[in-house]
Formats: sequence, structure tokens, C-alpha cells
Amino acid sequence: MNNCIFCKIVRDEIPAKKIHEDDDIIAFNDINPAAPVHILLIPKQHIASLSETEELHRDLLGKMLLSIPKLARDQGCTDGYRTIINTGHVGGQEVFHLHIHIIGGKERLPAMIHQS
Ligand code: 5GP
Ligand code: ZN
Repeated sequence: MNNCIFCKIVRDEIPAKKIHEDDDIIAFNDINPAAPVHILLIPKQHIASLSETEELHRDLLGKMLLSIPKLARDQGCTDGYRTIINTGHVGGQEVFHLHIHIIGGKERLPAMIHQS
């Protein structure tokens, strides 16, 4: 996808602080971190959102999830972290290339959603 910002990171057309890269996935630091550790984990393949995934993405999605514990541990998240996938308009998704946020640090994170 020509204009997708995360595809541009995959193609090294814009810089990112990459933490992990292999044939299928890349993890890099979020440009606007919400906590001391804020990693974005993406597939190299352009998939717009979790809603666009299908059976053929089963192995890729499994690989993404299974890569998270080591990624988080290597960044110092030894006592837990939060994973978030924002999906679509209601989910607050801003970049329409599937990504998993991995968020942590030393302090307990605040409650995620407040019902008013
Ligand atoms: P979303 O709201 O779509 O789940 O999250 C998109 C995330 O991408 C945001 O946390 C935002 O800070 C991050 N982001 C947007 N543009 C860039 C960029 O060019 N580089 C990096 N590293 N992160 C970005
Ligand atoms: Zn993309």
C-alpha cells in the first residue's frame, strides 16, 4: 500500500526504532509513547485491521501473539504489560495497518476504559 505509513516503515522509507524484524513481522517503538515501553508489532503484509483478517492469516496472527512475551521481556516488561488492538472507528484506530500495541513499564497502568 503506497500511502500506508506502516508499509513505509516496512520498506524503510521512513525511519523507525526497530526492535525486531524477520520475514513476516516488525516491532518498533511508537513515535508517541503512552508509557515507558510502547511497542507496535505489525505484519509486513498490509492488512488494514483485525476486521480484515481471515483464515489464511491464522499462522501470521499466531506468530504475532507468540512473539509478544519475548519482545516485552527484552524491553524490560518483567512484571506484565498491556496489549491493545484498536479496530476501526469505534475502536479508535488511527493507522489502518494492523498493529498490536505492547505497553508497559515499572508502574501499574491505569484502568483502560471508564464507564461514565
Ligand atoms: P492506533 O490508534 O491506530 O491503534 O495507533 C496508531 C499508533 O501509531 C499511535 O500510537 C501513533 O503514535 C503511532 N504512530 C503513528 N505514526 C507513526 C510513525 O510514523 N512512526 C511510529 N513509530 N509510530 C507512529
Ligand atoms: Zn500498510
